[in-house]
Amino acid sequence: MTNCFCSVPGCSCGARKQPYLSYHSFPTDPDQRRQWIHAIRRDEGPDFCIKTGSTFVCSRHFTLEDFVSGSSISRLRSGAVPSLFVQTETSMSLFNNVFLLFTLCFSKRLILISSDSPT
Ligand SMILES: [Zn+2]
Repeated sequence: MTNCFCSVPGCSCGARKQPYLSYHSFPTDPDQRRQWIHAIRRDEGPDFCIKTGSTFVCSRHFTLEDFVSGSSISRLRSGAVPSLFVQTETSMSLFNNVFLLFTLCFSKRLILISSDSPT
């Protein structure tokens, strides 16, 4: 999972640059898969081919409600569809900051690590 990238147009997140995000592969269910493709405004074809294990959508495109709560890793609920898309650089960086904060709060593991370490 260290070399995966988000396939949403305009989003250049990758696991190397943004390791704090989670990366989700497309659903295997054909209906849900179509919803995802529609949501990210792409069409399957020569330019965009979904490959299991190498085509991902990063966690920035999902809302808090899309994730399974109480899980230490970011897992999507079944039926979750990417719904958050940012258009401009300005809102992108603002959104990045908000999401970083959210990710830090959301990850139990990080909270545990920070409460263990001396301040
Ligand atoms: Zn993304």
